[in-house]
Amino acid sequence: MEPPRQTPSSDIQCEPLTPVWTGDASSQGGRTRETGLIGSLRWWYEAILRGCGFYACDPSSGTCVYEDDRRLAGICLACQLFGCTGYSRRFRLEVEGGGGAGELLPIRLKNPGVANHRGWRVPKFLTKPFILKILPLYPKSMDTEGLSLTLGLIERFGAFGAKTSHGQGAVRFENLPARRSIAEWIDCLAKAHDGSTGELHQGYWLCDVTAAEVNGSEIVPLYQKLYSAEAKDFRSENDEVLAAVDLIRSHTQGRGIWAIDRGGDRKKLLEPLLDRAQCFVIRSTGKRSIIDRRNLCGTVGEVAGRCRLQYKTRIVKIQDGREKVYELRYGAEPIQLPGRSEKLWLVAIAGFGEEVMMLLTNLKIAVRDSQSLWWIVPIYLTRWKIEETFRFVKQSYNLEDIRVMKYQRLQNLVILVTAAAYFAATFLGQQMKLRILCEKLLVRACQVFCVNAISVGFR
Ligand SMILES: [Zn+2]
Repeated sequence: MEPPRQTPSSDIQCEPLTPVWTGDASSQGGRTRETGLIGSLRWWYEAILRGCGFYACDPSSGTCVYEDDRRLAGICLACQLFGCTGYSRRFRLEVEGGGGAGELLPIRLKNPGVANHRGWRVPKFLTKPFILKILPLYPKSMDTEGLSLTLGLIERFGAFGAKTSHGQGAVRFENLPARRSIAEWIDCLAKAHDGSTGELHQGYWLCDVTAAEVNGSEIVPLYQKLYSAEAKDFRSENDEVLAAVDLIRSHTQGRGIWAIDRGGDRKKLLEPLLDRAQCFVIRSTGKRSIIDRRNLCGTVGEVAGRCRLQYKTRIVKIQDGREKVYELRYGAEPIQLPGRSEKLWLVAIAGFGEEVMMLLTNLKIAVRDSQSLWWIVPIYLTRWKIEETFRFVKQSYNLEDIRVMKYQRLQNLVILVTAAAYFAATFLGQQMKLRILCEKLLVRACQVFCVNAISVGFR
């Protein structure tokens, strides 16, 4: 049997790469040195917290005060680890070995900006390696992981101790305590700190517009906006979609065809698209009331049921390296929306699944020409490519791992991601683009090529 575990201390080796200044140049009075290092740790820990959108009090303008009635809710996350009035630090820090940074060597550099600059005093010698012992005093409420992340940040991007702007305190650590990703750590903090931190609770919506060639490999991420139904400026999802349509329309002179999934089958999108004379192919849920060629009112599903599926084709979809053959029959009916004069088409395709796929479009179709009619289907199927692109963008930029706590920051980051994806898709050469952006996509793109090639071959 193993002996019961003592409160484990974490012994971290610290190898200074430049002198570590701890306010104790001559290595007398070890306490000073530890206090200095704790101050530095706290500074970086706060930096992470604030960077992630948490609140951390500002010690220079008075720290938090622990009160019995509010308990942890009354003090910030930094004070919950480093302590404040009424709440003690969760750990003790001890330094073993090392030694002072030695004698100071004054350096005078000519500074043209300041006449009376006194120069700098830097330690003559590198501090010797030392061991940081972190001893949890209250293991249950001790954020060792957060400290480990902080030390990791110091090692990689920051510096340890004081006077770091002079280039001091570059360190290398070994044996840092185990830690998870910063995203998981923040999730934990946010949960532990439930409610008081703010906004990152509900999911967010992303309105994404990607342009793609139906018969080509060109794919351009155009627009991504993150929004929340809880936000003050939010009016409705339809408003969000139409805002995207209008913005893109103003830059593309109305070119392009909007391919939208079943979610787009709403009066509040269909009518504005018609008002704006935008071409669209929208998959229908089948429930919408429409007027058929004999001026009879019925649902899309009913009209599709009466539609003669006079053409046949066969397409091949490659899924997980295997070919799946679809035998399709398709046809079209001229329709109108109630109260609207525009001539629309309902294209019905059987064979993709048990349900007949129903597409609403205002594109011109010559219904007697099977090829003209078939043209509508690949437009809709281009969504495959687009969804794959979207997934790829989401994965390559770790969109779902973004952890910031403020809505505006999230929105800004999503815009940056879109810009980066746009750049990757547009300005990198075609070869490189296919390799970088479309590695997974190629297979899919190939499927859409297959759709076209084979539909011609087997008709
Ligand atoms: Zn505080």
